[in-house]
Amino acid sequence: MQDIRNEQVQTIIQILRPELQELSEYIYANPELGHEEVLSSKAHVELLKKHGFEVEYPYLGIETAFRAVYKGKKAGPTLAYLSEYDALPGIGHGCGHNLLGATDTGAGIALSKLVDEVGGTVVVLGTPAEETNGDKVTMADAGTFDDVDVAFCTHPSDGYYASGTSMAMEAIEFRFYGQTAHAAAAPYKGKNALDACINFFNNVSSLRQQLHPSARAHGVIKDGGEAANVIPDYTRAEFYVRAMDMPYLNELREKVIRCAEAGALAADCRMEWGHYEAAYKNLITNETLSELYNKNMQALDIDMLTEERDSMGSMDMGNVSQVVPAINPYFEITSGKAVSAHTTEFRECTLTEAAYEGMEKTIAGLTHTALDLMTQPDLLEKVKREFTEKVN
Ligand SMILES: [Zn+2]
Ligand SMILES: [Zn+2]
Repeated sequence: MQDIRNEQVQTIIQILRPELQELSEYIYANPELGHEEVLSSKAHVELLKKHGFEVEYPYLGIETAFRAVYKGKKAGPTLAYLSEYDALPGIGHGCGHNLLGATDTGAGIALSKLVDEVGGTVVVLGTPAEETNGDKVTMADAGTFDDVDVAFCTHPSDGYYASGTSMAMEAIEFRFYGQTAHAAAAPYKGKNALDACINFFNNVSSLRQQLHPSARAHGVIKDGGEAANVIPDYTRAEFYVRAMDMPYLNELREKVIRCAEAGALAADCRMEWGHYEAAYKNLITNETLSELYNKNMQALDIDMLTEERDSMGSMDMGNVSQVVPAINPYFEITSGKAVSAHTTEFRECTLTEAAYEGMEKTIAGLTHTALDLMTQPDLLEKVKREFTEKVN
């Protein structure tokens, strides 16, 4: 990292900071659930337009998604930053997506100020509904990343964690069909769909001990019958199954489906299954890219933690990482305190000076990483080679 370049980057960030802070605080004050992010997406789009981006909004027919592009005067690689801005029911921005959006959009705007000089294109994507039915999946499937060389998403956290892994996940619903009957007068004429469903849960419990410790299979009964004096003819359970990679997830899915089949068979019922939300693939960190980012953060006096984070879920960035080289590092907003995401405490942390410092450092690290990729073709080649070896 050259000193003169760093001064330039720091100046750009200082000029942008009030607008980014305003964006984060506006979204904090107007929390919107997935696919309802009308105000949040609009605020991002207005800021990007103000800074000279061309914006497609709505994007891919999704009302609260956008694709913003800033094309530099010279040819060069295309780098994408992925913004999120959906909130959680009840606790608003407990996952800190208000700050996530400001940081990743801010990184895109910062890079756009330098891209005329170094050559290349900056893309900022507004990706709705990360907490439920994430549209990064839609975008990865629709070819959004076909002309993108590298993709970045950064997430607020209680530490600076290097990009790691996330679990592959499928959201599966199981429907059991039986036959109603009077539960006292003629139970022998019925087929009990609730028994089938309960068998299913017990079968999954038997399976669980022989699963890999990292695997997860967890569910709830959404429809459990209507009245205690009627044998239920219909029940429905929603499950998430998760694993560290796609092959094990495929194996796990088949085993869980067999648990449902066996449950239905024992109760003389019929079972159908299907997906109720998009499936998330596991995150494959591009280590070349991750090391480059970590090195740039170190030059800014931040040591990225490379140990596994103790809380791990699934994310739609996983799907992106399987179609384009990508990283998903974390930045600290909690002043050194251990605060988990999805809490009101974490939400409040997004308004602190520590959070804005994390945002500034992260934008600087991302900008230097982008500049390295745009000015050193060998480096980008190495990133792409690793991607081809790992993913294909
Ligand atoms: Zn989140
Ligand atoms: Zn979350």
